[in-house]
Amino acid sequence: MSNPHCVFCRIVRREAPADIVYQDDDIVAFRDINPQAPVHILIVPRRHIPAVAALGAEDGVLAGRLILVARELAEREGIAHSGYRLVVNNGPQAGQSVYHLHVHLLGG
Ligand code: AMP
Ligand code: ZN
Repeated sequence: MSNPHCVFCRIVRREAPADIVYQDDDIVAFRDINPQAPVHILIVPRRHIPAVAALGAEDGVLAGRLILVARELAEREGIAHSGYRLVVNNGPQAGQSVYHLHVHLLGG
């Protein structure tokens, strides 16, 4: 399930450039192109899920793993002890601009 017009699907398929810092069978993480903190990484499911609003009950494990991968990357990036924010924007008034689910990891 991939959307040819979605920039994050294109990154997942390696059709668009990105600084990828993590990948597994279900999840890819890459550095935000317009960082709002010294460490700003986006953690995304490979599958095109537009937003939190589109998660199904069967996606609970995947949604949880996005957070576990964020925690792992915070440790790798050396910000686990200083602290970090995990942000998920959902919908236009929350400022969601890319409609492919992503967790922001911000810190440093
Ligand atoms: P949001 O406002 O939560 O939808 O966040 C979307 C984020 O994606 C923003 O922080 C953008 O800077 C980032 N972004 C958009 N296009 C790209 C891209 N091609 N590579 C990396 N990050 C991107
Ligand atoms: Zn997508």
